[in-house]
Amino acid sequence: MDLRVPVGVSLRRRLLLKLALPLLALFALDGALSAWAARHYANHVYDRWLYDSAQSLAQQVRLTQDSTALHLPEVAREMFEWDAEDRVIFRVEGSRSGLIAGRAVPLHGSNALQLFNLRYFDAAVDGNLMRWAVLTSPLPPVGEEVTIVVGETTRKRDRLTEEIMLAVWLPQIVLLIFAGGFAWRTIVVQTQKLHALSVSLRDMSYRTLATISGADMPEEMQPLIEALNALIGKLDAAALAHRTFVANAAHQLRTPLTALSLQAEHALNSASLPEMRAAVQDVRAAVQRATRLANQLLLLSRAEPEAQSKANRVRTDLYELAFETARAWVPQAVAVGIDLGFDEASVHVAVDVDAALIAEAINNLLDNALKYCPREARVTVAVQMLPEPTIVVEDSGPGIPVEARGRVIRRFHRGDHADSAGTGLGLAIAHEIALAHAGSFVIADAPGGGARFELRLPLA
Ligand code: ADP
Repeated sequence: MDLRVPVGVSLRRRLLLKLALPLLALFALDGALSAWAARHYANHVYDRWLYDSAQSLAQQVRLTQDSTALHLPEVAREMFEWDAEDRVIFRVEGSRSGLIAGRAVPLHGSNALQLFNLRYFDAAVDGNLMRWAVLTSPLPPVGEEVTIVVGETTRKRDRLTEEIMLAVWLPQIVLLIFAGGFAWRTIVVQTQKLHALSVSLRDMSYRTLATISGADMPEEMQPLIEALNALIGKLDAAALAHRTFVANAAHQLRTPLTALSLQAEHALNSASLPEMRAAVQDVRAAVQRATRLANQLLLLSRAEPEAQSKANRVRTDLYELAFETARAWVPQAVAVGIDLGFDEASVHVAVDVDAALIAEAINNLLDNALKYCPREARVTVAVQMLPEPTIVVEDSGPGIPVEARGRVIRRFHRGDHADSAGTGLGLAIAHEIALAHAGSFVIADAPGGGARFELRLPLA
């Protein structure tokens, strides 16, 4: 029997079908077995009666003056042939004398059963199904063998079979109804818990995330509840991080926008053209700061590990990438009197990276180096194997104290040497880009003093 349940069927119906179908099949099998047993038992009882009847007929066969005859008074014969329910037919026949008494009867039929000198079978007479017993018995001393055939209609057997079946089936049906009702109730109660769980999950929102209590849930549900609670925990942490980020971003954007508004006001109120030019230049600087901040915020959202798609990764020579990115900074370095160089001993190594993001991380490190190092400082970019492929940016500036290193890689955190144009996002972005590539970001001391930044990446 195929007990598979189509997809999408409710759990209740699924359980019920899985339980009810085998139960019904068992019940049907049990019914068939008890019907067979009832019939067998009824046959056994009434076959015995047929045998006794044949025996008592055999005892009435006597030998008189060379002939064999049945001594059965007419009243006894009538009583024998008709009872309240069934009709009885018999025939007595001698092996030498031929028909002694009775009438023509069938000698073969279905459901035959042979027991020594006794044989049973079923055969119909005048349209009525009858059970027959054939008994062969010797009649000493003449050496004749008498055959007695007795048949009876099956009404009493049928009634007994029905009564036995009713006695067996009735309690079973009642039991099945009660068991079914009990099973259904249990299924309903248990699935109501699932329903309650889905309602509490559905009613949860981004702001009302809360763990689910598995107190009255079945043991089998506990792993699911634990997994859901772990997911809710992660969602809650992510929601909190986003809220903090948005609040911080809004706060950071307000500063350049307030400055912008003041400077625009100043420009409008300027009395002379040179004064107005100076004010408009300040406006432009404020717009550039706001634009940089907006770009860095966008970059942060791109660098988040969850937002990182492997599709953006390209096999890249880290040497080429670091060299080209550093080269673009040469004019600005010259402008602020900083000696920017690329370490010739750098290695060529292939990595699978989002090249635009890695270039942004290098840009942030060089932007900082030019911001925080004094004139005539040295800034060197290198690619080394430590042992993983690593981009190193080293400078001879003031460096970052050990205790501040954990802090400066957090979003919007700024250090002691912070300059007014910063956003507090540069190192956070470099750190998150490293993490998004399953790498790491390390702040150390440069050998001659100054800061050393390592962006370690996994080998392709
Ligand atoms: P921002 O430069 O906007 O302040 P960053 O995240 O880029 O933000 O840097 C965080 C802090 O780390 C800076 O405020 C600064 O104090 C310190 N810092 C970064 N780079 C250097 C560097 N090369 N030398 C010294 N201090 C640095």
